[in-house]
Amino acid sequence: MAQNGLDMDIQFLPGVGPKRAALLKKELAVGTIGELLKLYPFRYIDRSSFIRIPDIRPDMAYIQIRAKVLRVDIIEKKRMSAWVSDGAGELELIFFKGIKWMFEKLKPGLEFVFFGKPTSFNGRINIVHPEVDSPAQGTAEVSGGAGSMTGVYTSTEKLKNGGITGKVMNKLMEAAIEKGLPYVEESMPEHLMRQCGLVPIHFALRNIHFPKDMASLEKARYRLKFEELFYLQLSLLKQKYIRSRAEHGIPMPRVGEAFNLCYNSLPFPLTGAQKRVITEIRNDMKSGSQMNRLLQGDVGSGKTMVAVLTALIAIGNGFQACIMAPTEVLAQQHYKNIQKFLQPTGVRSAILTGSSKASERREVHAGLEDGSIGIIVGTHALIEDNVIFRNLGLAIIDEQHRFGVEQRSKLWRKATFGAPPHVLVMTATPIPRTLAMTLYGDLDVSVIDELPPGRKPVQTIHATEGKRPALYKFMKDEIAKGRQVFIVYPLINETEKLDYQSLEAGAEEIMQKFPFPEYKTAVVHGKQQNDVKKFNMDAFAAGRADILVATSVIEVGVDVPNASVMVIESAERFGLSQLHQLRGRVGRGNEKSFCVLMTGHKMSKESRHRIELMCATENGFELAEEDMKMRGPGDLEGTQQSGLPISLNIASLAKDGLILNAARDCADSVLREDPTLTSDRNQLLRKELRKEKYQIKDYSKIS
Ligand code: ADP
Ligand code: MG
Repeated sequence: MAQNGLDMDIQFLPGVGPKRAALLKKELAVGTIGELLKLYPFRYIDRSSFIRIPDIRPDMAYIQIRAKVLRVDIIEKKRMSAWVSDGAGELELIFFKGIKWMFEKLKPGLEFVFFGKPTSFNGRINIVHPEVDSPAQGTAEVSGGAGSMTGVYTSTEKLKNGGITGKVMNKLMEAAIEKGLPYVEESMPEHLMRQCGLVPIHFALRNIHFPKDMASLEKARYRLKFEELFYLQLSLLKQKYIRSRAEHGIPMPRVGEAFNLCYNSLPFPLTGAQKRVITEIRNDMKSGSQMNRLLQGDVGSGKTMVAVLTALIAIGNGFQACIMAPTEVLAQQHYKNIQKFLQPTGVRSAILTGSSKASERREVHAGLEDGSIGIIVGTHALIEDNVIFRNLGLAIIDEQHRFGVEQRSKLWRKATFGAPPHVLVMTATPIPRTLAMTLYGDLDVSVIDELPPGRKPVQTIHATEGKRPALYKFMKDEIAKGRQVFIVYPLINETEKLDYQSLEAGAEEIMQKFPFPEYKTAVVHGKQQNDVKKFNMDAFAAGRADILVATSVIEVGVDVPNASVMVIESAERFGLSQLHQLRGRVGRGNEKSFCVLMTGHKMSKESRHRIELMCATENGFELAEEDMKMRGPGDLEGTQQSGLPISLNIASLAKDGLILNAARDCADSVLREDPTLTSDRNQLLRKELRKEKYQIKDYSKIS
């Protein structure tokens, strides 16, 4: 091929030119015909169906009417009003721009097809700046094909001002299909297209832009989404296959005595979910391959227990284990919690954090180097260069999102056995399955989907300002029963100053309504010195304070079983996952617990939906799924830093779970047969994977 038509600059398409090309480049990042073809419509207009004017409602999306112009007025030279009728009713159309030209066009008595979004003004429905077509254009003879559906592309104000309207985009696409399509090579192998029921790429591209009919559009969409998800999964799974072959793990065949001593003296039976997960972990560790497992479980599901037993397997095979937490408070808490479980085993443990004293530090360093310390808990201090392990066999990482790749790589280098330590990553942020498969596609995933028995559900209540006196009364009753109360304020970067003000005002009010010494209130926020923060936190944790007023910085995982009430102020400003995390702070003891969501009267539809969901379910996974549907996967809690490994062009993790499953199964079947993709018929897959789009950063691997 001499000149690949796909690389041709779009300025050479009819009607483009250098100026519009620059605009398209700037606004849509489209410079070549190939890139233009990958800009898919985000919706379609069915140009064959019209709505009757009396049936129009202001909350309808885009609609199309076919109507005659009755009269046109220009008001104060600024605004044009056109009244049209379709025989069943009359409607006003409003124009602010291009008035002169439109005035010429909309001659009374002529019929047009108008397309736009109805709005309501002073109780009257109208359409502002509808697209105007002649009736012939509005029906079957749409540019690009015989179909009656027209693609609508992302647009911007600047594009519209630059003359690149919807119609112009359709024209451009028509030219791009004509010039570019012959150069597009099939990107899915024959045998997989047959196996998975995919239409050829040429059919798919033609019909995604100019659908012949609904069925063709569906086939085109399925094919393009499938392909995108397939290569993503193929890339992730290939890394996994390669790693499981190339990087041998430390074989840990035994369960060991320490494990059994701990297990047999547990004060409670493990839940079914805990047992299942431990079996999965155990199988990984004895397999001879390196474990790379993500453990997901809601707050309070008993992950710590699993971590301890996992660490003891490493000990039982003669290796050391480390448990890393993202903050000092969490490290301290883990350390404290695991002591009682380790007690019957006689295994020596220690803690190392940024605030460990020099003498303690020396002792710990020595213990790690000579192997007398079996389990070390800590923060980033664990991965400093002067920390040397005798034989690290397992790394457990809590709340992994906060660990950078760089930090994890340091840990990796501490391996002394000649094989990397097994890795267990724990997270309390429920991640929807489709997202987990994409973010951690090369990790094995275990889920604790069952809370320990006897856990009382948290009752969630929505209240507005008028209910505050009742809330205070309720808090007093709970405190009288010996319980404690969290009050949390939002803290958002952009509004930080105001947020601190409302926290301070709120704390002030609490101290008035709950006067000392009858009531004791502690205040914690990010601007305090560390020791002040710790002092106040400890006061609450130890029960010396009844109320903790805090910003949302209260540490994930802080455990105060005696706290039975969580009040969240301005709850409408929190995301679902965050609300759920905060609610998880209560309901950890034996008492019935409550979560009160305080909001203003006015809320957006989305906020209201979030609050309703919170009141309706306690299931973190359900909430995470909903959150993803509402906000899109990119904004999900805990995923901002890591981001999605690739940006998806057409598939949606929120909506295309079924296609994702099919694509993953297909990728898996290919790799099971040919893990290195060396067979002849897989050469196309190899070639596609080399494309930049599928070069996925490996988030999970500590290397
Ligand atoms: P997570 O780390 O998942 O938030 P934890 O491990 O801190 O949860 O467990 C929460 C509480 O439940 C702890 O007090 C723990 O001792 C207790 N717990 C864990 N497993 C069980 C179980 N199987 N039965 C009863 N209580 C349990
Ligand atoms: Mg925990």
